[in-house]
Amino acid sequence: MTMQCIGYAATDKSAPLAPYTFQRRDLRAGDVAIDILYCGVCHSDLHQVRNDWGNSVYPVLPGHEIVGRVSAVGPAVTKFARGDMVAIGCMVDSCLSCDQCRRGAEQYCRKFPTMTYNGRDRITGENTLGGYAKAIVVREDFVVRLAAGLDAARAGPLLCAGITVWSPLREWNVGPGTRLAVAGLGGLGHMGVKLGRALGAEVTVITTSEGKRADALSLGAHHVLISKDKDAMRAARGGFDFILDTIPVAHDLSPYLSLLDVDGTLVIVGAIDVLPGFHSFGLVGGRKRVSGSQIGGIRQTQELLDFCAEKNVLPECEMIAMADINHAYERMERSDVKYRFVIDMATL
Ligand code: NAP
Ligand code: ZN
Repeated sequence: MTMQCIGYAATDKSAPLAPYTFQRRDLRAGDVAIDILYCGVCHSDLHQVRNDWGNSVYPVLPGHEIVGRVSAVGPAVTKFARGDMVAIGCMVDSCLSCDQCRRGAEQYCRKFPTMTYNGRDRITGENTLGGYAKAIVVREDFVVRLAAGLDAARAGPLLCAGITVWSPLREWNVGPGTRLAVAGLGGLGHMGVKLGRALGAEVTVITTSEGKRADALSLGAHHVLISKDKDAMRAARGGFDFILDTIPVAHDLSPYLSLLDVDGTLVIVGAIDVLPGFHSFGLVGGRKRVSGSQIGGIRQTQELLDFCAEKNVLPECEMIAMADINHAYERMERSDVKYRFVIDMATL
């Protein structure tokens, strides 16, 4: 008995998101069914709706910052019960047996993780449909628990924006003494600032938007650098140990590499794109590194949720109705988001 469900989907790359009726699968033994209460809006949703990455299978029903309440569990489920407050991020399945899955890095599964939407169900081969919907059915291994005390209406963006910055911050041991720069103050960037600050780093925001200066400081940044200000960029050369680059489009890395100190690292989490070339001396002259990072594993996502509950770190959310999603996308394209849209699913 499948479950009739309603959501918002795009049927091709130029179509706006519109109401879409579909079936959720019947519960498999290890599955959890969840009534979705809130879903964050990620720039990746927009990329995939517009087929920016060339891999979209329509209909695209986005949403991977999902918060909800368990409505039913399969007979083999051990960790969750009806009524539990839970969350789901960017993945809903993986092989769970390769070395990467076993070390908790399901995002690097050797057999590729099943993404929450625009992915392929491992059993039926069907296109997965995400969280801009009333309900979802997910294997319990990919469900995380919302710590008591974490505001459910604001927790959603931790599931993608949060974990995508948390994972590299932890991997590179960012903490007291680290001069951290966060490039791009959007959904990911503002979580980079908050989490970097909570971990004890000295945080600088690198932004294209002079108008975000005051916000950056009130979010916890110690300094703000306007990337269009050539003099300020020159003066900041060599001043950072770690740059978290959340810029969503192809861009020249050279001006950012010159901001790194000797042995510094720039981690790309934003643009999934061909980047323009740069002179190798930008790396050679200072043993600098460019790396990349993709979301984070399930254990680390739970660690992040628990850290945020304990330290009271929460995303800045602008709650919207489901019907406002196309307008929200337009605003996101103009960098006019403060700092994450969250859909109130009661409006669907
Ligand atoms: P967002 O909320 O739209 O924020 C992006 C920010 O980047 C903007 O607010 C803007 O900040 C800056 N920006 C935009 N256009 C720019 C340009 N042309 N040049 C320089 N800066 C620009 O996006 P998001 O949700 O944070 O996502 C950021 C990127 O990360 C997206 O491409 C998304 O697909 C990707 N992503 C990757 C992963 C991963 O696993 N690696 C996970 C989630 C998302 P300022 O106004 O401060 O300049
Ligand atoms: Zn995302």
